[in-house]
Amino acid sequence: MTNTFKKPKTILVHGPSGSGKDTQVDLLVEKFGFEKIGTGEMFRALSKKRKDIAGLINSGKFIPSELTYELLNEWMESYDEKKDWIFVSVVRTDDQIELFDNLLSKFDRELDYFIHFSLTPEKAIERMSSRKICSICGENYHEIHKPEKVQGVCDKDGGKLIKRDDDKPESIRKRLEEYDKSISPILGEYEKRGVLVDIDASPSIEEIHAEVLRLF
Ligand SMILES: [Zn+2]
Repeated sequence: MTNTFKKPKTILVHGPSGSGKDTQVDLLVEKFGFEKIGTGEMFRALSKKRKDIAGLINSGKFIPSELTYELLNEWMESYDEKKDWIFVSVVRTDDQIELFDNLLSKFDRELDYFIHFSLTPEKAIERMSSRKICSICGENYHEIHKPEKVQGVCDKDGGKLIKRDDDKPESIRKRLEEYDKSISPILGEYEKRGVLVDIDASPSIEEIHAEVLRLF
């Protein structure tokens, strides 16, 4: 997908837990060599190197947007500027819209698409109740979409697969409501800018991937 004549692509992806956004992003990374950029990964990596960051994360306190973006600006140096970039869930609050704008202009990039994977509560509940997670490495499995090779055991490290408490229907419903509330104004802004693409996340992984590919 990267070619020398065109500007590299810049995409932002959001979606609620259970929408399968990470799977879709991983497909783009594998097939087209996108650089996947997320603050979760950044904080995990930084907390191994910096005690102050580790302390902040372990405290469970809210991490201010300014600090997140200060770190993200530095962290961006580890990515190839010539490649297509796909950001995952990096605009979580209103004030991060401007911070993200500033980051992109610093690297002379423009957002091509904000892809939002939408999911109804019913579908989220159906999907997450078939979900399991490795008790060692945290890898996600799914009875239909991503079954493990040996029942109940992680493919990677043999860890026991467990169901998480927050995969219970009431927790899922509540989490989705909170997510919708926080993401709505952000989606509104990107819709105004004409870059928002809403993709229904209820079909299969392959069908959703085909929808994503129609954008390129
Ligand atoms: Zn594992």
